[in-house]
Amino acid sequence: MSVVALVPAAGRGVRLGADKPKALVPVKGESLLSHSVRGLLASDRVGQVIVAAPAEQRGAVQAELPDVPGVHVVSGGAERSDSVRRALGCVDELAPTARTVLVHDAARAFTPPVVIRDVVDAVERGAPAVIPVLPVADTVKEIGTGEAVLRTVDRSHLRTVQTPQGFALDVLRRAYDVAEDIATDDAGLVERLGEPVATVPGHPRALKITTEFDLAVAEAVLAATDHGG
Ligand code: C5P
Repeated sequence: MSVVALVPAAGRGVRLGADKPKALVPVKGESLLSHSVRGLLASDRVGQVIVAAPAEQRGAVQAELPDVPGVHVVSGGAERSDSVRRALGCVDELAPTARTVLVHDAARAFTPPVVIRDVVDAVERGAPAVIPVLPVADTVKEIGTGEAVLRTVDRSHLRTVQTPQGFALDVLRRAYDVAEDIATDDAGLVERLGEPVATVPGHPRALKITTEFDLAVAEAVLAATDHGG
């Protein structure tokens, strides 16, 4: 299979208040990272997964992961984009036949397989970059000094962005080759190249687990699913 997924999982997870990296926080007895990696493999589109782990915890991360061929662990970096860059640098060695690359946050552990498949299929049909998006549900205000409202923003053209983001491998490589600053969004780097970025529908279950509240939401969703919800 010619799809490789890069999973940045080297964050400290400070906002979650856990005593371990966020990726290793368990939900139903399994780490967020392990849920994420199993989800990628279950999509039936991804052949290789390269996880960027905190350098000093590579062993612990490896031990958390499903013991199946195609799952690799490398050392991440100081920022998310450093972690992605390092994983990308290992693709030739670990996934030499890959032509399509996904970048997927370990923290989006419950992304449904349909989202992963939609992203991969759109890249394989020829899009250089593809991102899953959701409409903005809340009213959006622009604020100024003292948090006072300046105006109401037209949200009909706004979308929030999830992962996995999908790319033609050569396009993501070019994007990272020219990027010199810290990037929080890989597709944003591709935009700077002037390449088009397409969208597919995201999913509420692909939420990024950042706070204790998010974790509680994820646990509740899983429990409901177990009961046929
Ligand atoms: O902190 P935040 O939730 O925005 O991080 C998004 C993803 O990037 C997480 O999966 C986190 O583990 C990862 N990350 C990383 N290397 C860093 C910082 C964050 O791989 N230095």
